[in-house]
Amino acid sequence: MARVYNFSAGPAILPEPVLQQTADEMMNYKGSGMSVAEISHRSDLFVDLLEEAKQDLCELAGIPDNYKILFLQGGASLQFAMVPLNLMRSKKADYILTGSWAVKAAREASRYGDVRILASSEDRNWCYIPDLTGLVIRPDADYVYICENNTIYGTRYTNLPDTQGKTLVSDMSSCLLSEPLDISRYGVIFAGAQKNIGPAGVTLVIIHEDLIPNEVLPGTPTMLSYNTHAVHNSLFNTPPCLAIYMCGLVFKWLLAQGGLETMQKLNQRKAGYLYDYLDQSRLFKGTVDKAARSLMNVPFITGDEAIDRAFVEAAANAGLLNLKGHRSVGGMRASIYNAMPEEGVLALVRFMEQFEKENV
Ligand SMILES: *Cc1c(COP(=O)(O)O)cnc(C)c1O
Repeated sequence: MARVYNFSAGPAILPEPVLQQTADEMMNYKGSGMSVAEISHRSDLFVDLLEEAKQDLCELAGIPDNYKILFLQGGASLQFAMVPLNLMRSKKADYILTGSWAVKAAREASRYGDVRILASSEDRNWCYIPDLTGLVIRPDADYVYICENNTIYGTRYTNLPDTQGKTLVSDMSSCLLSEPLDISRYGVIFAGAQKNIGPAGVTLVIIHEDLIPNEVLPGTPTMLSYNTHAVHNSLFNTPPCLAIYMCGLVFKWLLAQGGLETMQKLNQRKAGYLYDYLDQSRLFKGTVDKAARSLMNVPFITGDEAIDRAFVEAAANAGLLNLKGHRSVGGMRASIYNAMPEEGVLALVRFMEQFEKENV
């Protein structure tokens, strides 16, 4: 069976060389006679692999020494609780709402303290990023929270909010490592791996060491304290070894591509093919305000649900998979993460052109 172009939002496409190396090493990782799924997480083999993954990620993303990298479980969704449990010392946090992941995060945080909404783009079904000028951040807020790329709606921040000295917490599940970033502007970055980084089962947290608290909110489980995982180098309990290993291979693959600047250029070019086509199409149109267009998730519609359905089905038959949009936007969504080759996006655009000819 041939490989397909998988446009799923997540779990998502992975680089083929990473899948191939995983397969090659599955029966015998580095002469151990075992796979990474079978070796002890306390073994030198695994501890070395973990260290290398962290070093490669530091190099890729320019992570300064005073940040810790944690490999956790529970998905990005568990971070919606871990962030307030660890950071909400004065029980106040300010959130910017740009879609349902930010809404879910704010709702979870409001179980632990007083959450204020600084801005929201809900009035137009989250198709833009709210104006970030003149945000009224509370002087005693513990942090300001954003979801930087909105996987469902296809919007992204092109500027970070001025947090007026407050800690910035960012959910980067669907954009981390898609372009260079200035880590020092953030207090906490987290990302479920299964969008742009690796397989499901591991969540990356990059956190400034001064934010790792000795004291968390009363009643916080040991497993939900950042300090637990920082002190034990993500080995407090059994980590998702195979998922971490595959993330490490993705980091090496990204370094070999030329790093995040190269990825940014490639991602801009890939997204450009789609947006340029959408802007002149007589059948399809993008659903997002131009200024907020994501490089990773591109939603579009025809305006006719029956035609949308026919398109998704015809595309699947042509080897272009998982193009159905999220139910809250409808239509289609092409997720074009780092691992989606340029040829995959070009194949999609060609297919859309052909479909348009036959349906207008
Ligand atoms: C997918 C996604 C989540 C949820 O991730 P899980 O790992 O399934 O909990 C949260 N935020 C964003 C931006 C996402 O894309």
